[in-house]
Amino acid sequence: MTKNILLKRDTLSSNYAAHDHYDLVIIGAGLSGLSSGLMWLKNTSGMKTLIVEKNSYPGGYSTAYEKEGYVFETSQLFPDIVDILNYLEIEIPLKRFEKNFMRRLVVDGDRVEQYLIPAGSENFTRYLSETFPADAEKITALMRYSVDLFKQVRKLKVNATLKDTLAAPFIAPKVIANLNRTYSGLLDKFGITNPRLREVMETFTSFSGVPSDRASAIFATGAMLSSMTRCFRPFGFFDEFPAKLAGKFQALGGELLLNAEVEKIEVVHGVVSGVRIKGVPSLIRADKVITTVDPMLAMRRLVGDEHLPAKYIRQLEHTIMSPSSVNVALGLDDRIDLEKLDLDYPYNVVSTGLGTAEKLFNAFLSGNHGFSKDCFHAAVICPSLTTKAKNTITIRSTPWALNGWKELRESNYAKYKAEKEKWADFLIDIAEKYFIPDLRKHIVVKDIATPATYARYSGSPTGSIYDMASLVTQFGPKRLPMKTPVKNLYQPKFAHGLYGTMMNGVQVVDLLLDRKFNHGNSLFIPDKSA
Ligand SMILES: Cc1cc2nc3c(=O)[nH]c(=O)nc-3n(C[C@H](O)[C@H](O)[C@H](O)COP(=O)(O)OP(=O)(O)OC[C@H]3O[C@@H](n4cnc5c(N)ncnc54)[C@H](O)[C@@H]3O)c2cc1C
Repeated sequence: MTKNILLKRDTLSSNYAAHDHYDLVIIGAGLSGLSSGLMWLKNTSGMKTLIVEKNSYPGGYSTAYEKEGYVFETSQLFPDIVDILNYLEIEIPLKRFEKNFMRRLVVDGDRVEQYLIPAGSENFTRYLSETFPADAEKITALMRYSVDLFKQVRKLKVNATLKDTLAAPFIAPKVIANLNRTYSGLLDKFGITNPRLREVMETFTSFSGVPSDRASAIFATGAMLSSMTRCFRPFGFFDEFPAKLAGKFQALGGELLLNAEVEKIEVVHGVVSGVRIKGVPSLIRADKVITTVDPMLAMRRLVGDEHLPAKYIRQLEHTIMSPSSVNVALGLDDRIDLEKLDLDYPYNVVSTGLGTAEKLFNAFLSGNHGFSKDCFHAAVICPSLTTKAKNTITIRSTPWALNGWKELRESNYAKYKAEKEKWADFLIDIAEKYFIPDLRKHIVVKDIATPATYARYSGSPTGSIYDMASLVTQFGPKRLPMKTPVKNLYQPKFAHGLYGTMMNGVQVVDLLLDRKFNHGNSLFIPDKSA
């Protein structure tokens, strides 16, 4: 018998007071919903605020779960959101990865190149220049430009006035110049043609399951600099963070309603009037509603096309949601010494060479997957090196499409199980070959998540794990706007990841409060905040 572990996520319970009416209802207690609720309560007073969540605990995609005495987590990398945590007065013990950001292997037949990507942009520039001396000047120029570009993003306004919009080309010329540029376009601009160097640089786009010839240059640069500059992970399990946010939200007077699935966002004459919960006849009335769930679910199913203008429906139809994933979580015996295996990086990533991300993404777009022994991209993470709990590793692969997985699970569970075992084996082979010799001998517990798992867990119709894909064609002003065509219904979708989701809350509350909180800024500017 294994002892049950009490996770922090399970220490929260509903405190729903069933008021007649709420000032604000938020759908989803993932990080976007919790951030929105907290930013709102910190900047208003006496507002009746409710977060409705279908699961029995908060956290959404950022969580931990227990299986047979092992604790597995979804997320791993905790980006630099220290300013936001200080503002919210949330303390969470974090381990900082000081030395290296990633151990990156690139496989080409029998040849395996290893890159130890250091943390910090200056270290990264130095490392690349030493590794690729013939390209040193180009690398320095690209990195200098990237740092400048990211600094200019800070100067931009998202809740922009006409004056801000007119000023943007002068304040942030590099941002404006790159709005339509892909990451591979940015590498081209600096004459980076060496395929090995490109492979390393493209680490930061394939990270989100997107190829560099479709990824936004601004997004990729931001993801690279924000995640590698100062990166962390909690010493505890990953559910502690949302649990602390949810606890704080309740302490500030917010109400949390768990185990409650919203099945309808009610709209009357183009204005939101509240939400309906599955199995509950009465309407929860609300002046304002923020949805943080997958836009295809929120707008097409919960609102319904009958309430949306044709132009918005077309924009939804053309929106590409990010891919799904196959994830293998393994509990290992205590005979294996993970400390000795050089795995203590935020990520250990192995992939086949240049062109892999394109092949995998194109296969995903056609509703399939492109994984084979000659074409793969996988990350191996070792959380127990930090948490000091029983040995665990996670092997992650993306991009996968939902196609087939859901039907298979519903129509033929035995076949579904066999299929997921097959792909888990495939990923375990990769981890064993490149990172952990004899891994198989040490496996005690195995938990496999497929695109069908992600779809069921999150409610996303496609099992998408990173919201709208960070393609250049749907970035910045081309993304679905926070203000939906339904009056008083908001959908904050700045970007994915812990940083993006915390910013979702900052930006939507700034919009609701007419820029009185974050002054319309695209990023969180704490010293100017109320
Ligand atoms: C496997 C995996 C690993 C990741 N690793 C990292 C990482 O290391 N670092 C990082 O920064 N990011 C990581 N991410 C991304 C990050 O976890 C997400 O971007 C973030 O957690 C999304 O938060 P969210 O609140 O926007 O959405 P979600 O987490 O999807 O939250 C939405 C919430 O809405 C609820 N919901 C859905 N439908 C309804 C409904 N009808 N009624 C009521 N509630 C509903 C869901 O249950 C969920 O709780 C990872 C994601 C995954 C899947």
